[in-house]
Amino acid sequence: MDGVRTKGHAAALGALTAMIRGRAPHALLLVGPAGVGKTTLARDLAAGLLCTADDPTDRPCGSCRACHLVASGGHPDLHDLGPEGPGRQVVIGGPGSRARGIRDLVSELALMPVEAGARVAIIRSAERMNDDAQAALLKTLEEPPPGVTLILCADAEEPLLPTIRSRCSRVRLGPVGTRDVEAILAEHGVADPALAARLARISGGRPGRALAWANQPDALRYRDELTRVLLDLTSARASERLAAVRSAAAGASVLAALDAPQGTAPESTAAPAVSSRGRRRSSAAPPAEGSRSGTVPGGSEVSADAGEGAAGDDEPTDDAILPARTPAAERRSAAAAVVAIWSDVARDLLLSQRGLAASLRDPRLLEEAAGVGARIDEADLVAFIDRVGHAAVLLAANVGPELVLDDLALAWPATRSSAA
Ligand SMILES: [Zn+2]
Repeated sequence: MDGVRTKGHAAALGALTAMIRGRAPHALLLVGPAGVGKTTLARDLAAGLLCTADDPTDRPCGSCRACHLVASGGHPDLHDLGPEGPGRQVVIGGPGSRARGIRDLVSELALMPVEAGARVAIIRSAERMNDDAQAALLKTLEEPPPGVTLILCADAEEPLLPTIRSRCSRVRLGPVGTRDVEAILAEHGVADPALAARLARISGGRPGRALAWANQPDALRYRDELTRVLLDLTSARASERLAAVRSAAAGASVLAALDAPQGTAPESTAAPAVSSRGRRRSSAAPPAEGSRSGTVPGGSEVSADAGEGAAGDDEPTDDAILPARTPAAERRSAAAAVVAIWSDVARDLLLSQRGLAASLRDPRLLEEAAGVGARIDEADLVAFIDRVGHAAVLLAANVGPELVLDDLALAWPATRSSAA
């Protein structure tokens, strides 16, 4: 099994091994948080099923032709489908559709295998199938063509129809250990040991997320700035809090690139411009006037960018780069990104208050967190953590992102010296 690339996930790998050596289910649902390693595991299973090593216990061997073809994404009996287009949906597809979708996958699977053996289809971000796309998949899930294994990877299973879920065997993936995340970062050569250790914690045990942070230094800088702003805001007035948080949300589009599935989409089908400079530039907002916090994420780069953008006539306009994704969806995802970081900061403050510094998600915060944490009420902080968890739910339920952020800005605990 030298071809296995998954690290951590011992239980899931055990289940996988049994499937490769015995009978693979017709349909498998891999569920776990974004970036935790579902696609890598799905590819390992695909390689194991398609591998031609004589001894089944060696599969995937990592050295036969089939294993190489799976690794390069070119195996003719491995079918890969993921979200496409500006809305990043897994579409229904079919004749006349501009994007490849479920109907196209179903047609491909109806043909005979090219290499004679098994066939595998991987549907990435399966939770992004709308009801029509799911309905189009149902029949194939009920009666898959002989030798076909369908692997659905989903961040959450609630968006999937019960009829889809009930037809799949299920493997759940949780966070992997920080050592495993560090090893994966080292393998990719994207972070020195110190950065790798930090990213392993920030990513909450999700290797894909850690790789995304490593590949997006701007996003990491934004995170650091936002963290500092939030700590400063514990001693700021209401008006300053509201201005700073809205400004932070306006600059948060730099985090959008983190949400693109990592290392999954073939380059040619990657959604255009999600992480383009043009987009980042267009969404950055000027720093909040009179904010006591001084720097606001994204603020310092904005003036330079604005001048550069005005001068660059040959560049397409941002409107041309940014097609159908609605401003509302963009504002919501920016707010969600801010809320996620805010939640980490609040959690770290609480851990620091309780003397659990070793568990901090961002150990670089240690000194500042200790300073701020000592001056705010633990009860306020606990109540806020409850609220920030609720905020994510509200955003998912389409409550206005500004409303959600304003509420958090006002509920964010105040340091004792300024509370009066
Ligand atoms: Zn092989």
